[in-house]
Amino acid sequence: MSKYWSDLVSELKPYVPGEQPKMANLVKLNTNENPFGPSPKVIEAIQRELNDSLRLYPDPEGQALKDTIAEYHVDFGINPKQVFVGNGSDEVLAHIFQGLLKHDKPILFPDISYSFYPVYCGLFQIESAVIPLTDSFEIDPNDYKRDNGGIIFPNPNAPTGRYLGLGHVEDILQANPDSVVVVDEAYVDFGGETAIRLVNQYPNLLVCQTLSKARSLAGLRVGFAIGDEDLIEALNRVKDSFNSYPLDRLALAGAVAAFEDKQWFEDSCSGVIRERERVTRELETLGFEVLPSKANFVFARHPGHEGAAIAAKLREQGIIVRHFNKPRISDFLRITIGTSDQNNALIKGLDAL
Ligand SMILES: *Cc1c(COP(=O)(O)O)cnc(C)c1O
Repeated sequence: MSKYWSDLVSELKPYVPGEQPKMANLVKLNTNENPFGPSPKVIEAIQRELNDSLRLYPDPEGQALKDTIAEYHVDFGINPKQVFVGNGSDEVLAHIFQGLLKHDKPILFPDISYSFYPVYCGLFQIESAVIPLTDSFEIDPNDYKRDNGGIIFPNPNAPTGRYLGLGHVEDILQANPDSVVVVDEAYVDFGGETAIRLVNQYPNLLVCQTLSKARSLAGLRVGFAIGDEDLIEALNRVKDSFNSYPLDRLALAGAVAAFEDKQWFEDSCSGVIRERERVTRELETLGFEVLPSKANFVFARHPGHEGAAIAAKLREQGIIVRHFNKPRISDFLRITIGTSDQNNALIKGLDAL
């Protein structure tokens, strides 16, 4: 606290990212990074871009990337004007909160959900109402049929991993024609079906995705949103009032290459899914209850042990998982799916406990 701070800053409750420990040889299963790494073609594209052109500003529109993303979704009839790109989907989400979710009614999101949402509400002074997930940690579309200034939820949800079928997403869209419904699809490529296919049917739908998880580029900071041109225009207006160049030359080049290497992407996703199913079975054998996951992590609890205690003991063995000290989920651990060696270490570590 300092007398130089604004009132707003004094009251902020910032997001706390999962830790990035500096120790070597850790089995790091706490921040949902993809263990398979980015496509070699991404690295090559970035290396090609490492030249004197770095003295020039990048394309403020990121047009080549928008064109690539639109082309990638051409089966859903997406054109480049329906695409917005930003510095990680966290930045895209920030613009969404400010430009599309700030109205005079509270926005709705699940009680157990991405913990950045309440942080943005604080930063942008947006009222919210949290909607409890069902007892089985699912989103019930009927709970989203009340007056609101907008709706946002991750699908698959984080940190539960549970996926809401597109029919239910449509229920929510149809019940809320007067507000924007944001579907945060950070994990959709690990077995869910994207709502991008619904964009041309619903002018109130905005889908947000990231290259951090399935495309293994958390370090490059690229995210995007797809929706009706009017929604995208709102995001452009916010962006050009904040930072005209959110994506640097290296990020733009790497992101385009990531979409072009479809084979690498598909192999990486199926590798994660295969390991997720195995880890789920092995955790169940050890007595864990594991929620059905369509993400690159599982959310699990053990009836005989506290979540925080398990996390602390794993840590002593150099295995880091994420524990949330929050109502309803304090017994759970969120465990990122790693390489098969890392997953073996996890199972062995748990077995030893
Ligand atoms: C990881 C994650 C993001 C943020 O992704 P970045 O593109 O790395 O900023 C957004 N939403 C959810 C639900 C996430 O888990």
